[in-house]
Amino acid sequence: MIHYADNPSCSAMRDDPQCSVISTSPGMFRNWQRACPSSYCAECASDARTDSDRYTELRKLVESWQSHTTGSSQTLAEWSHR
Ligand SMILES: [Zn+2]
Repeated sequence: MIHYADNPSCSAMRDDPQCSVISTSPGMFRNWQRACPSSYCAECASDARTDSDRYTELRKLVESWQSHTTGSSQTLAEWSHR
């Protein structure tokens, strides 16, 4: 199984006897994982977040906070740049 180099905390990697890592952009890793799910680690793909993913998520939280949706300010407060 091929893992993403920038995801050293991958739990599947530790138990993988045929582990190899690849260094690429998060978007590319996800594309490859989608195209070839048996070869690429799904956990790494889900953790491979791009800055635009983070920005989209944060913008959604801010927009819902601005519209005073109940509970959203807590979600915004708990958002972290992972
Ligand atoms: Zn992995």
